[in-house]
Amino acid sequence: MKKLLSLICVALLALVVSVPAFGADKDQYPSKVITIIVPFSAGGPSDTVARLLAQAMSQSLKNQIIVENVGGAGGTIGATRAAQARPDGYTLFVHHIGHATAPSLYRKLPYDPIRDFEPIGLINDGAMTLVAKKDFPARNLKELLAYVKANKAKVNLANAGVGSASHLCGILFMTAIQTELTTIPYKGTGPAMNDLLGGQVDFMCDQTTNTTSHIKAGKIKVYGVTMKKRTASLPDVPTMSEAGLPNFTISVWHALYAPKGTPKPIINKLSKALQEALKDPNLKKRYAELSAEPVAQNRATPEALRGHLKSEIDKWGPIIKKAGVFAD
Ligand code: ASP
Repeated sequence: MKKLLSLICVALLALVVSVPAFGADKDQYPSKVITIIVPFSAGGPSDTVARLLAQAMSQSLKNQIIVENVGGAGGTIGATRAAQARPDGYTLFVHHIGHATAPSLYRKLPYDPIRDFEPIGLINDGAMTLVAKKDFPARNLKELLAYVKANKAKVNLANAGVGSASHLCGILFMTAIQTELTTIPYKGTGPAMNDLLGGQVDFMCDQTTNTTSHIKAGKIKVYGVTMKKRTASLPDVPTMSEAGLPNFTISVWHALYAPKGTPKPIINKLSKALQEALKDPNLKKRYAELSAEPVAQNRATPEALRGHLKSEIDKWGPIIKKAGVFAD
């Protein structure tokens, strides 16, 4: 009898424990601080995009949102952490195009960008710029190409690790000029920019969110923007095509995710808050100053992000395969 009673107790306890952890507070969500994991260092482009978004979403959700930087390995360390987080709506994840290229670049990836995440919505599209330290000898892209080819053993190119946007842009650049250069990986282009400003590295390709203010202040040189058209915040900077490398285009998009299994009502609430945030005048003003363009409202949805991520994975796979770059 005693044994039976204790068995019943254990069964009851298991029942209580197996009630979904979020069942109780799903309706009151959010009721505590939300953390957005950014898979790159503080001060870089993804960090900037995420912090401005966190501020605006905090207002629409009337709840505090903080950013945690988990940099390294081109964003895959932060992505792994986000994939393994509790799916209760209190850990979110902002990543860029690198979320779509990692499966082709990494032989062993501890997560699957589609299977292990719930898409919430796209955030923005943005241009990249090819920039160099202030005293780099080349004055324009044509001079840069000649200089780099003649000095390839001593020129180095910074990036934020295999799979980062700066790394992808670097692959496109080296493929376009058929010259292999030494690359220097950082945990994000925030610290890479510090070294570029200090003259410790020669050049890099990075989002306008990180380069615009330094270009305008004359602290770094710029050779081109990676879009089909010039970008509004840097109207005097030519496109890479205008400057001498035709069809050199790459646009960096950011998106918001939650770990797989986050309840649908929470995802819908977050998607609505994202859409609200993208209309926020302060966010719009700051994004515009940095040439980060908030997406249209119908792209800030789980469905649009799901489709976009899949098509970007399919698009980049063959390009990366052709370039023959892999990481373990
Ligand atoms: N812009 C970086 C990259 O190259 C990452 C970052 O620090 O946001 O992907």
